[in-house]
Amino acid sequence: MRAMVLDAPKKLLQLRDVACPRPNAGQLLVRVSACAVCRTDLHIVDGELPEPKLPLIPGHEIVGRVEKIGRAVKTFRAGDRVGIPWLGWTCGRCKFCRSNRENLCRRARFTGYTMDGGYAEFVAADARFCFHLPKQFDNVAAAPLLCAGLIGFRALRKCGDPKRLGLYGFGAAAHIIAQVAVFEGREVFAFTRAGDSETQKFAQRLGATWAGGSDETPPEKLDAAIIFAPVGALMPIALRHLDKGGVVVSAGIHMSDIPGFPYRDLWGERAICSVANLTRRDGAEFLKIAPRVPIRTETETFPLAEANEALTRLRAGRLTGAAVLVMDT
Ligand SMILES: [Zn+2]
Ligand SMILES: [Zn+2]
Repeated sequence: MRAMVLDAPKKLLQLRDVACPRPNAGQLLVRVSACAVCRTDLHIVDGELPEPKLPLIPGHEIVGRVEKIGRAVKTFRAGDRVGIPWLGWTCGRCKFCRSNRENLCRRARFTGYTMDGGYAEFVAADARFCFHLPKQFDNVAAAPLLCAGLIGFRALRKCGDPKRLGLYGFGAAAHIIAQVAVFEGREVFAFTRAGDSETQKFAQRLGATWAGGSDETPPEKLDAAIIFAPVGALMPIALRHLDKGGVVVSAGIHMSDIPGFPYRDLWGERAICSVANLTRRDGAEFLKIAPRVPIRTETETFPLAEANEALTRLRAGRLTGAAVLVMDT
């Protein structure tokens, strides 16, 4: 089968013929239809995350068809459509796994990072961590739901029940979560790169109450803010715009260092926290609400062989919505 392979960080992915994965008893062999490109892929390729499997096939927002099932699989059948997310395996026994926090499992394995992912014609995945997908979404539209949507949704839930929600970095995840927030009756304040009026208009089309640059002051104090951009300097900025009792949630896996800030900005029971990975429960809840919103994903498609181009555009902020690789099988 053909796959885009990372041999070492900071190198371009190479299109190669590699052996097709062989599923074990608990796994599915999936023929990939579409795989969205996540900022985490960029962090892996750029060497900002430690110890990826090498060589590695990246990609963890995978939509495909089940080609074959392992003999122990009961939840999927050959021919089913399937979504494969970032969380690929957990131990089921550690204190985190036993307290509904499998996202923090010490031995967790991750699709497209410590296991091969979906920048390929086929992928093997543990059936217990795969999702059935709502029919309303075609393959390309469904792919970004599997990380941008799902981890964005976990970040939204971490905010509590905010009336006014700020979103910093209006890319793949924010454009999905803005729609969920508006559906739930929240006011969305979208922050983009300074001067990016095109993305600000995009945010307003999706129902944002206000959109401006991340250097601007929103017209109201916010109850919560989610930071999707990997820019640590945004944490104290967002904190300054919070009302008392508010929270700033960082949704990314990697961020530049956070500069110091005066304690009075945190005072008043404000909080900062991060969101790590996802649980299967997040996935089930999110995929239930997604068709009710209904979420419309804005996507730009690329052939598998152009994965490097998709990553370059993401790095430069030259994408509206999410990039999705499509397989021409
Ligand atoms: Zn991701
Ligand atoms: Zn565990």
